[in-house]
Amino acid sequence: MTNPIGVHALVWVGDTSLPSLTSAVERTAAAGYDLIELTLHDSVDLDAAATRKLLEEAGLGVACSRGLAFDADISSADPAVVEKGAGLLQESLRLTHELGGSILTGVLYSALGKYAAPLSPGGRANVVTVLGELAAEAAGLGMSLGLEVVNRYETNVVNTAREALRLLDDIGANNITVHLDTYHMNIEEDDLVRPVLEVGERLGYVHIGENHRGYVGSGHIDFGAFFHALADIAYTGPVTFESFSSAVVAQGLSNDLAVWRNMWSDGDDLARQARTYIAAQLTASAHR
Ligand code: MN
Repeated sequence: MTNPIGVHALVWVGDTSLPSLTSAVERTAAAGYDLIELTLHDSVDLDAAATRKLLEEAGLGVACSRGLAFDADISSADPAVVEKGAGLLQESLRLTHELGGSILTGVLYSALGKYAAPLSPGGRANVVTVLGELAAEAAGLGMSLGLEVVNRYETNVVNTAREALRLLDDIGANNITVHLDTYHMNIEEDDLVRPVLEVGERLGYVHIGENHRGYVGSGHIDFGAFFHALADIAYTGPVTFESFSSAVVAQGLSNDLAVWRNMWSDGDDLARQARTYIAAQLTASAHR
């Protein structure tokens, strides 16, 4: 089993202050994970140097993720809005690098939210330009970008793996990868296997989420099929558990993701169960 198994920090805490991240890092390591994913949506108080030290002491890897906002959106046709979005992406890339991470992923290509109209051709051209420039900057730092494929209520840019591959082809940078998330795939893809096979070696990051984003295995996602597909393409990248509950709230992000329900209260129990579940799936699919 070679995949680093990660957990999203929102299983533990809703903000990025040092006391919160100290707790999140300790609990991530205690639950047996290899990696923690930090969301950079509201990261104004994130102390990169101190957090990097915490991660190193705990022996944990880090990945960073974010989405953009409607007033800072590189898929907009308005140059000022695009520029603001590009600025946020550069800031997040730099922060990820300072934390010791090598991948910045998520909805880097648009706001995270429900659009009222389809993506415009001009807006798509702006995405291609800005992400091409960001990828070049990332390459200079030895880093890569992930484009997370999310459902129609959270973006109008890429809802399927195939659309993400087309966008990658248009950008033409070899350090941009596809990020698949089972929660979103369940809504938009025909099944959980073909997208993985089609993305193949361009898969760079994976989110494991139940259909309701609660305890993994308690819903109806066919994880057996998905993990077998990962084994079929010999995927060795991170597999990160992502779950949200009204028990832990990140201002802004939780509302953008429509986290209204209490899916769980005990993040430690949730994370231990998910770590065991994911490790078992990886082991089983390697011995098919
Ligand atoms: Mn996700």
